[in-house]
Amino acid sequence: MNMVDIITKKKDKQILTDVEIEYVINGYVDGTIPDYQMSALLMAICLNDLTIDEIYSFVKYMVASGSTIDFSSLGKVVDKHSTGGVGDKTSLIVCPLVASCGVNVAKMSGRSLGKTGGTIDKLESIAGYDVNMSIDKIKDQVKKIHIALVTCSDDLVLADKKIYALRDATGTVDNIGLIASSIMSKKIASGSTNIVVDVKVGRGAFMKTQADGKRLAQQMIQIGKKYDKKVVALITNMDVPLGLNIGNSLEVMEAMDVLQNKGEENLTKLCVELASWMVSLGLNVNIDKARQVVKEKLLSGEAYSKFLTWIKAQGGDINNLKTSKYKYEVTSKINGYIFDINAYMMSEVISIIGGSREKKGGFIDLGCGIIINKKINDYVKTNDVLATIYSNKVIDNFDIVRNAFTISSKKQVSNTLIYDIVK
Ligand code: URA
Repeated sequence: MNMVDIITKKKDKQILTDVEIEYVINGYVDGTIPDYQMSALLMAICLNDLTIDEIYSFVKYMVASGSTIDFSSLGKVVDKHSTGGVGDKTSLIVCPLVASCGVNVAKMSGRSLGKTGGTIDKLESIAGYDVNMSIDKIKDQVKKIHIALVTCSDDLVLADKKIYALRDATGTVDNIGLIASSIMSKKIASGSTNIVVDVKVGRGAFMKTQADGKRLAQQMIQIGKKYDKKVVALITNMDVPLGLNIGNSLEVMEAMDVLQNKGEENLTKLCVELASWMVSLGLNVNIDKARQVVKEKLLSGEAYSKFLTWIKAQGGDINNLKTSKYKYEVTSKINGYIFDINAYMMSEVISIIGGSREKKGGFIDLGCGIIINKKINDYVKTNDVLATIYSNKVIDNFDIVRNAFTISSKKQVSNTLIYDIVK
């Protein structure tokens, strides 16, 4: 077998065999296939796509490329995954909420590359929080309090680490089959039995259209079936930022507001829905019953207590959250209704003020960020504050923040939060 033939085959729109995909993944991980050949193959895949059988083979050999975690001694372990979006702090809310319902959550999350922080970056804004725990410690903690949230170990799905970094540098991230196999190989290797996926679509997400989001969801569900894992996917809106706070420590603060029943409406609704699907899978109850349990735990404060117990168990001091030293208020220059808030432009601001990293291992300012002071359909007058920026950098031009808000004489009519649920 040789890599040039395999690249040519995919370039000519032919289907790769299981053995060829095994050769590609193993060869790339052990270094016998160089970056330039793997890049050519990835580009041919982006242009000509993968069939579902090719995707199954990708997942199989990616999972086998690293260590896998066995949580079977814990019984059911339910996980969630978001394909990522601006202001998406749902894991910080949903995981303790689900744990407070008695469902086990042992979650591995990532730091992020790109425009906003990942869940691990957000948790690292809490002084002392330990993101590295041994598997035995994770199991002990989950047995005691139903929840642990740590970073992925370095050798989990080694192939994905290498391939994802190459995709990032070669414009080959946005292929649905590659995304589905990348996400699902990590979910399968990390030991959960049931998975709820939040597939974000819109300006602030990888998937720009609902149709693409649905295709991604269907592929992840099919992969899950192969491994006897039930996957439910929610297709949700990422045109506007999720909630009011964007930036690592600011998002932890907002998560605490939601858990104390004083959170923004859409963020709260989405978290209740994600948690309900996880509880439905974890307790094997219908979705209406699961919603009832989740809402009770939220309203009673048990979900918030679970959050505090969890953060303390992992060494975090929640009373020590910091914001960056400069605070700027960005005001409106006109009167009108907030018609739109551009999630992509907000993510650009986060990257300018240092809240995200462009390269693996790069520095990230955990205290910088944006608080959105006016929501869709709020009426604003000239000089009203639209957004508050926290930054350690001096900023003298706020046009990009102001321009992210579209202010109109009309109210916005369509603001759908959840487009579809795919099972
Ligand atoms: N997130 C992943 O983990 N992998 C992808 O390919 C895209 C988003």
